[in-house]
Amino acid sequence: MRKTHFGAEYGWRHIGRQCSDRPRRSITGLHHGQITSGRVGRPAVDVFRIPTSAHATIGAAVVTHEGRHFLQIPGPTNVPDRVLRAMSAPTIDHRGPEFAALTTEVLDAVKPVFGTTGPVVIYPASGTGAWEAALVNTLSPGDRVLIGETGHFSTLWAGLAAKHGLRVDVIPGDWRRGVDPAAVRERLDADAGHEIAAVCVVHNETSTGVTSRVPEVRAAIDAAAHPALLLVDTISSLASIDYRHDEWGVDVTVAGSQKGLMLPPGLGFNAVSRKALDHRGSLTSAYFDWDPILESNARGFFPYTPATNLLYGLREACAMLAEEGLPAVFARHQRHATATRAAVRAWGLEVLCLDEREYSGSLTAVLLPSGHNADEVRRVVLERFDMSLGSGLGKLAGTVFRIGHLGHFNDLSLAGTLSGVQMGLQLAGVPIKPGGVEVALEHLRDAG
Ligand SMILES: *Cc1c(COP(=O)(O)O)cnc(C)c1O
Repeated sequence: MRKTHFGAEYGWRHIGRQCSDRPRRSITGLHHGQITSGRVGRPAVDVFRIPTSAHATIGAAVVTHEGRHFLQIPGPTNVPDRVLRAMSAPTIDHRGPEFAALTTEVLDAVKPVFGTTGPVVIYPASGTGAWEAALVNTLSPGDRVLIGETGHFSTLWAGLAAKHGLRVDVIPGDWRRGVDPAAVRERLDADAGHEIAAVCVVHNETSTGVTSRVPEVRAAIDAAAHPALLLVDTISSLASIDYRHDEWGVDVTVAGSQKGLMLPPGLGFNAVSRKALDHRGSLTSAYFDWDPILESNARGFFPYTPATNLLYGLREACAMLAEEGLPAVFARHQRHATATRAAVRAWGLEVLCLDEREYSGSLTAVLLPSGHNADEVRRVVLERFDMSLGSGLGKLAGTVFRIGHLGHFNDLSLAGTLSGVQMGLQLAGVPIKPGGVEVALEHLRDAG
């Protein structure tokens, strides 16, 4: 990637379609010596000749991509060409007959991805909207909710619950482990009056790379014979880490489009159990209310304008997942996660997750030695190798970076990703042992 500071007066504005015969300005003098990527001396790309989609204007800087950008943050993830193409179809009448067929097809196709035969509600919303939907449909003001502190995302969900007037009981955590099922059991046992209305778990804590053991949390609720609902955030685990809504007895599964599902941001999901449907709280939201949506869905429609083109994309993504088969999808993610951890250890660095039962299949958070700034590594990797890595969130800012290895991702995407990380660490002056990439490649080669 190159960032070239041309000044705003050189920027092209495209009004309507881009014309191929537009006048070209001379940029002589800018080709050599003013490229900020550090690769002075190589012939520079004439950024005015590349298609609009290949460069973006950030303030006065034009960023060019000479190959594919590596989007290795743990969401949004790389969107497959098949999905992009599917989404480029013309938008249709969302009240017409063609749309009804699309709705029916998509609602059927998405269920196996959640491991459910029950309803899945789809919102034009980010994951945060789907979090809110899970709470407002099932709970009443003043209800108690129990949530395990796994990291930044569990903390945000707890904050959202508190904003709705729910009483939030947090099981404190060190951001290096998942929810402790024994602690859930203890809290529920102590709640003889059954005031706790829901247990909230972030399945894959995206800020730490730790996957909580949801079946064990379910078993803890059952062992306590407690009627609380189980609400699970799978925003960064769905379609990448084994997950089973029905089998695990989850009441509401919260998901988003932009991570394992390989779609752009913009769709939020709630998979809903029979128990959750029957246990409606008195918090209200007209927008997120399941009832009108389920009623409309039954006829093939939505009560308000859905994100039509994202639904085309969802149909395609579900087809891709079905073709590969979910067990193979999960196994692929585990292999890549194992290879990534092998590389991290070979570099002499530490994986943030402390419990091997809870390693995330979709991302790895890497701890830097003290005195080194993870954001500096990310900056170098972006500027030199055109790859985005995840930043440390909340209290982990600067101390970890996160490698996303989820979604549309294969062995050689991982090889490229780890190569960029290794070079970036070295260029940023982080003391590492060489050879991490080689160790990962050996794993990929042998654990086919
Ligand atoms: C990304 C993410 C969210 C937030 O989703 P948005 O789409 O940004 O609102 C919530 N929880 C988890 C676990 C996530 O990974």
